[in-house]
Amino acid sequence: MSDRREGKVILVRPGRVVVDLGSETVSAFVRGGLKIGPRQSRHVLAVGDDVILDLERGEPVIEEVLPRRNRVSRVAPGDPKAPVEHVLAANLDWLVVVLSLELPRFNPRVADRLLVLAEISNVPPLMVFNKSDRSEEEDPTPLYRAIGYPVLRTSAWTGEGLDSLRDALTGKVSLLAGPSGVGKSSLLNALRPGTERAVSAVSKATGKGVHATTAAHWFSLPGGGGIIDSPGIRGIQPWGLTPRSLPGCFPEFRDLPACQFRDCFHREEPGCQVRAAVEAGSIAFSRYESYRRLLDDASGTATS
Ligand code: GDP
Ligand code: ZN
Repeated sequence: MSDRREGKVILVRPGRVVVDLGSETVSAFVRGGLKIGPRQSRHVLAVGDDVILDLERGEPVIEEVLPRRNRVSRVAPGDPKAPVEHVLAANLDWLVVVLSLELPRFNPRVADRLLVLAEISNVPPLMVFNKSDRSEEEDPTPLYRAIGYPVLRTSAWTGEGLDSLRDALTGKVSLLAGPSGVGKSSLLNALRPGTERAVSAVSKATGKGVHATTAAHWFSLPGGGGIIDSPGIRGIQPWGLTPRSLPGCFPEFRDLPACQFRDCFHREEPGCQVRAAVEAGSIAFSRYESYRRLLDDASGTATS
């Protein structure tokens, strides 16, 4: 009689993972031959992977990795001629993009970069504008709502919007992203009362921006589901982002009439419908500016 159970990977260590089985968490052994997909991956398993465990032997062993719905991956540091995919998290319901309007000031480049990461990863983004208790000069939320992204306004201080945030995240698996100082830890603490993770303790101890790692930490939510915090996520080079795939990551570019040239990169080409829409004001200039920055980045470092 075999004892096979399905669970979710919540922590990855070399050769071992911690798997949440619902009723309990167990540490499991990863066999050397276990692989997912055709590409070489730096880490075979990622946080969020759904796996089948064999509990029959003395030590739980990963038998099988179930197909991934989606994944957030970066280009692993190394030889750019032989890029290797590093999967940071898999099977996500949300990429939660946390931003603030003030302290730090809203930066459209950072926001748009994370939205593109969500799009290329096939993970729906949820934009959270925190520090809603502060007065703002310009409100970028209508712009993003018009594009079609879900937007919440929250305050970890006054509690505004926290019920909506909790509703959106409970029972789901979310990856948390955003600049430092916007209130990610504060929101995590608010959603998980009693958590030992003190606000800013980590960043204060290590100094701002120093050694941003991409190690993923899993936080279970009281009502089910979890939040994956991966502090280095905002700086990663997204896997699969090329000058060809980039325009598809801007939803407002999708339903325009065709450009004069089929292979238009929406730069200075004549008859470009994206630029026409920017000039007509139906595409926000700040979004187009982000597109151009990302296009330059992707042109320099193209992966598959
Ligand atoms: P993180 O770097 O994104 O994890 O941000 P923290 O949670 O460490 O918060 C950074 C600073 O912003 C701290 O001083 C928090 O107390 C403060 N902060 C967090 N949330 C809010 C909020 O909703 N309103 C205001 N005014 N300040 C906040
Ligand atoms: Zn064009």
